[in-house]
Amino acid sequence: MQVLHRTLIYLDANATEPLRPQARMAVLRAMDVTGNPSSIHAAGRDAWNILESARKTVAGHFGAKPGDVVFTSGGTEANALAVYSLATGRHVLVGATEHDAVRAASDRLDHSVLPVLPSGQVDLGALDAALRRHPHALVCLMLANNETGVLHPIEEAARICHAHGALLHVDAVQAAGRIDICLPDLGADSLALSGHKLGGPKGAGALILAGSAPPVAPLIAGGGQERGRRGGTSALPAIAGFAAALEAAARAADLAPLRDRLELEAVAAGATVCGAGERLPNTTCLARPGRRADTQVIQLDLAGIAVSAGAACSSGKVARSHVLEAMGLTDLAGCAIRVSLPWNAMPADIDGFVQAYAAARPSVCASGMQAA
Ligand code: PLP
Repeated sequence: MQVLHRTLIYLDANATEPLRPQARMAVLRAMDVTGNPSSIHAAGRDAWNILESARKTVAGHFGAKPGDVVFTSGGTEANALAVYSLATGRHVLVGATEHDAVRAASDRLDHSVLPVLPSGQVDLGALDAALRRHPHALVCLMLANNETGVLHPIEEAARICHAHGALLHVDAVQAAGRIDICLPDLGADSLALSGHKLGGPKGAGALILAGSAPPVAPLIAGGGQERGRRGGTSALPAIAGFAAALEAAARAADLAPLRDRLELEAVAAGATVCGAGERLPNTTCLARPGRRADTQVIQLDLAGIAVSAGAACSSGKVARSHVLEAMGLTDLAGCAIRVSLPWNAMPADIDGFVQAYAAARPSVCASGMQAA
């Protein structure tokens, strides 16, 4: 018999957000539409209308045109489509704190890594210097970091890139739905998005291409869907839910006071906050020197609280954080947890976390490092 564990307090929104009610309704409505959006009969046209209305919503939210939106299965695929397509004939410059979705794609290409400052933001001087060596590079930078919430100065980076004839791809998976994003103002050439990170269902995402982006070649060729840029029958319910979640996503700024209180109380209990400057309003990365991150996560889980040790990965393994290492926080890279507030976080969730966090007692583990 399967045992379902009950999480009382969910603070792992950057792994996935709870489904928004508006998204659930849109998913259910789309599941009842039988047609394939590529079919020309009435049932197909009903499905096509849902697909194109979702495309319009997603495009409008980011100041783009519907034809610029390529629906994908999620953020990983959107990033891979951008990197493999736009890198043709170009060196790739990838930020040191990028998500594995981008790092894994660029690892297969001719690439170099751009350093970040101790704040976690990309070093713009180093970007400029790298572009002098590789003027027509593809630069990959995330808008918001998934572990620390740190926001990169994308508008300035875009100006530097374009002055050198380079392209800029931006992974906006964690920022979308949490801060306002206007693609033309940002100046990026492409933007990767993921539906489940903003309160939609898992299984849909998008790559938005600015007018400045060269045409993309599909990773999956097939029946010519998505204007030939991504083959395969569209995942209509997931796409409809993604668009509905985006419409419902008010700015997450309201979460900032809750996050700030959590942070203050965690610091009083001995935590160090990793990441400075502008950050997402819902995210904090808390290190407890000498205490293993995975043990902290388990201890909080036993108290009914869901947080994570860095990025969620399919193996369930907890590795040292490459993000914190790139920021020069080598001593803290194995002992930081990520607390990320979901759209429906309540003050009582913060109280519960703070109580459990302060109560956690260290105990010595085999490696000599203390377990939380
Ligand atoms: N990019 C960032 C910054 C992420 O945090 C994630 C997921 O954690 C991804 C990309 C991958 O998105 P998806 O889970 O939709 O494939």
